[in-house]
Amino acid sequence: MAATGDVAIIGAGIVGSSAAYQLAKSGRRVVLIDKGAGPGFGSTSASSAVIRFEYSKLETAATAWESRFIWRNLRDYLGAPAGEQVAAFHQIGILIVDSVSFTREYLRGLFAELGVEHVEYDPAGLRAAYPGIDNGRFYPPKPIRDDAFWEDPTAWLGGVLTPQAGFIDDPRLAAENFAKAAERLRAKTLYKARVVGIGHRQGNWLLELADGSAVEAPQVVNAAGPWSGEILRLAGVGGEFKVRTRPMRQEVHSVAAPAGRIEPVVVDEDLGYYLRPEPSGSLIVGGAEPECDGFDWVDGPVDDVDLNRSQRLFDAQVTRAARRFPGIAIPPRPSGVVGVYDVASDWTPIFDKTDAPGFHVGIGTSGNSFKHGPLLGEYLAAIIAAGDDGRDHDADPVVWRSPRTGREIGLGFFSRLRQAWATSGGVSG
Ligand SMILES: Cc1cc2nc3c(=O)[nH]c(=O)nc-3n(C[C@H](O)[C@H](O)[C@H](O)COP(=O)(O)OP(=O)(O)OC[C@H]3O[C@@H](n4cnc5c(N)ncnc54)[C@H](O)[C@@H]3O)c2cc1C
Repeated sequence: MAATGDVAIIGAGIVGSSAAYQLAKSGRRVVLIDKGAGPGFGSTSASSAVIRFEYSKLETAATAWESRFIWRNLRDYLGAPAGEQVAAFHQIGILIVDSVSFTREYLRGLFAELGVEHVEYDPAGLRAAYPGIDNGRFYPPKPIRDDAFWEDPTAWLGGVLTPQAGFIDDPRLAAENFAKAAERLRAKTLYKARVVGIGHRQGNWLLELADGSAVEAPQVVNAAGPWSGEILRLAGVGGEFKVRTRPMRQEVHSVAAPAGRIEPVVVDEDLGYYLRPEPSGSLIVGGAEPECDGFDWVDGPVDDVDLNRSQRLFDAQVTRAARRFPGIAIPPRPSGVVGVYDVASDWTPIFDKTDAPGFHVGIGTSGNSFKHGPLLGEYLAAIIAAGDDGRDHDADPVVWRSPRTGREIGLGFFSRLRQAWATSGGVSG
């Protein structure tokens, strides 16, 4: 039996669910397909869900800032009924420790342009604001087994606090909230439905599912996160792309917070980690891809990734955090989550049409785009609508205009055909 629709979306993570909501809102018959038991069980469920505004490019920073208005009012935005549990935004601020990618001078300009509230600290100010912090400059990050890791600092660092930043407490639930909102607009959701083949029938895309059924639609969105490369291969699409994607395995660890608690999220590229408090009071600690730890690229099937935490990465990430906040005690055994990023060559998402008519991509979110989720759905819907109106998005890129701030974002920025952007070259984007 074939389900039919105007648009079939492969992947019900934050990207596919958000796109489903926007496309259903525009009156299209949407079929949202995921191999998981429900929405959000891919990368999205592993996400630290930090909502920050510092990126090396204005477009990604603006997408994060604009999305925050939606995260703060998610229930209203989605029209979720009172009885539905909705993911919550915790505005606890983010401290960005001085780094080569994010200097105070760069952040001052970026935040002035966007209108983001911020507080600058010089080294003495940072020490006074965060008692217990060791604000030494240790750059570049070094392996923790290397004696150089423990050398004295070469200078003292300040930082920038953005009080309006924070995190979403349940990223998987957020994807579910978008998917349910799409269902209320009559989108069809198919879970435990794995796409195993992609072909054509009578001018439509034909998605073959593992149970022998199929979905047929003239338009398709590949929103398969780290599996997006597998979907491109099934569809025979992607040869023309100038920016490539590759999955990367990641670990995030959990430790007890030191006495006195660390309140804001901390982004620290000087040492190569980030941390954020959990509502329970513990801390989660993730990596910022310091080159010295090596990259854990996934070249085989994403489903075969080892989901056990490793002592090596646990020691590396948590020891880095404890170098900055010596009050953090390092437990003997790792606990936390393993996830996979869908990394684009320039660590910037690819949201675009392709040269295969009707085939679109919302991929390459590079470990940094949960926060962008609400707007990425709007971007995909705008690109698809423009195509329906006969506009060639390659030649005449769509411009998205914020109903909240009036800011315009040229969506050609996210093109598959771009020359790779010069970015931080890591998860910060
Ligand atoms: C450890 C970790 C920490 C992160 N921390 C942050 C953070 O702090 N802030 C931030 O903004 N971002 C963060 N991210 C990044 C963010 O989580 C991702 O950018 C985002 O969740 C990607 O969403 P997605 O919908 O593209 O992918 P996914 O959530 O992976 O969704 C893709 C879906 O496609 C489905 N699928 C795949 N193949 C098939 C198939 N053949 N048939 C049917 N369905 C299929 C999968 O089941 C999956 O549900 C983090 C990511 C990780 C892994």
